[in-house]
Amino acid sequence: MRPRKIPLRKCVACQEMMPKKELIRVVRTPDGEVGIDLTGKKAGRGAYLCGKVNCFKLAKKSKALDRALKQPVGDHIYDQLEQEFIAVEEQFIAAKELTPDDDEAE
Ligand SMILES: [Zn+2]
Repeated sequence: MRPRKIPLRKCVACQEMMPKKELIRVVRTPDGEVGIDLTGKKAGRGAYLCGKVNCFKLAKKSKALDRALKQPVGDHIYDQLEQEFIAVEEQFIAAKELTPDDDEAE
């Protein structure tokens, strides 16, 4: 058995490297629409953020998404994303807690 490599991605706000599945992907579609991509499979340029509203706020303040998506993201888009992010954060945390942790199994 080969050790499996965990794909790491960098959060565009806090610059921390994290396993991809612990990050939320924001995507700019080929149509120029910016939104949260929970599947991680949408076509387009992606940017990753920790699943934390604080990190989103940081990204908003520093306009990190503008740079990561190579497109100016309007304030209203940031506001809209922030709302989505707050909703998604709860699901995201719930999903993580539901994931069985095998540490205790003997
Ligand atoms: Zn972060």
